[in-house]
Amino acid sequence: MVKLAEWRGKDLFRKYGLPLPKGQVARTPEEAEALTRNGTVPLPCVIKAQVLSGGRGKGGAVKFANTPDEARVAAAAILGLEFKGEKVRELLLEEKLPIAKELYLSLTLDRSLRLPILIVSPQGGVEIESVDDSAIDKIPVHPFPGLASYEKRRAGQTLGLTGGPAKSLDRLLESLWTLFQREDAELVEINPLAVVGDGLVALDAKVIIEDDAGFRHPEWDDIQDDRTPLEEVAREKGIAFVQLDGNIGVIANGAGLTMATLDVLKEFGGEPGVFLDLGGTDDPKKVTEAFLLMAQAKPKAVFLNIFGGVTRCDTVATGLVEAMKQVPTAERFPLVARIRGNNEKEGVEILRAAGITSIPTLRESAQAVVAAAGGKA
Ligand code: GDP
Ligand code: MN
Repeated sequence: MVKLAEWRGKDLFRKYGLPLPKGQVARTPEEAEALTRNGTVPLPCVIKAQVLSGGRGKGGAVKFANTPDEARVAAAAILGLEFKGEKVRELLLEEKLPIAKELYLSLTLDRSLRLPILIVSPQGGVEIESVDDSAIDKIPVHPFPGLASYEKRRAGQTLGLTGGPAKSLDRLLESLWTLFQREDAELVEINPLAVVGDGLVALDAKVIIEDDAGFRHPEWDDIQDDRTPLEEVAREKGIAFVQLDGNIGVIANGAGLTMATLDVLKEFGGEPGVFLDLGGTDDPKKVTEAFLLMAQAKPKAVFLNIFGGVTRCDTVATGLVEAMKQVPTAERFPLVARIRGNNEKEGVEILRAAGITSIPTLRESAQAVVAAAGGKA
């Protein structure tokens, strides 16, 4: 799953004809000022941090401005923020609309029903988790016929809409349903969906796309999301690779063993800095490639924790020894290996010949790598 920034979500909304406020992205205070001065964004306007976490309204990451000068000052204040651990690099400036009522609306997948589901509530503008169940209507949608007109009417009734806004909802739901399907979305959420005048406007957009459908969407390639440059390289090579804040590199195979390895390191006071899941492979070259990628992350020490199954221990050992030959001496790091399972004896022997000892128990190997990385964090 990949979460899109609000402005990307709204670009999709625009493509499908959903009603939006007039707006534009800015990346500097000067740009924000210019957009409001030249009328691209009408005043008064709303200035919103483009971060992936919600709760921006409450958290000071949404501000209002009445003049171009105010827009510049507000933009400068928000661009300096670190919002829930994420640096604000982009802003969305939009005309400020007079809201008569804030509603909630989303389309998502209900995994237990195994159906798309339309969720609506007349209590919008706050996190849906905080809304009482009695004020939320969940309407399962059959994926083949799509949203039926009686389902759309039921949503309108729950939202308390009549007249213009009810008609607006009808069109909006049709567009949103098409978007949800064609764009392979897991979630499209509009919160708040605002009643403005005689219609509705999507004031916020949260879109999560299913990136396993990426092969159908070449246009997603430029969505870099929050990947680091190395994570980007790994993704292109098809290696599961994630960078964290610590200093120990972890190479394991299988999501379960990889997660357990991170936990064990934490347990012994270590801080995992990057992890790499070898998955199942019988090609030592893939292992070498993965290792060289790990080396580029410059870990203080690396823990290789492999349980040989499909991926045999000797395959991993061969790939590893080859990689170590290619890493310049100055960039080498202490390595603690624990390889068990299929072809363990052969693997251990290959490592031994290259001067690497495999420590068979989890506790001792984890403690050894924490010590090699400079002790407890
Ligand atoms: P979130 O808090 O991260 O979900 O950010 P939102 O985009 O939902 O904005 C938070 C709140 O700002 C909304 O619930 C509205 O109350 C307010 N807001 C956003 N756009 C407008 C606007 O055009 N006019 C007015 N009056 N309020 C707005
Ligand atoms: Mn919102």
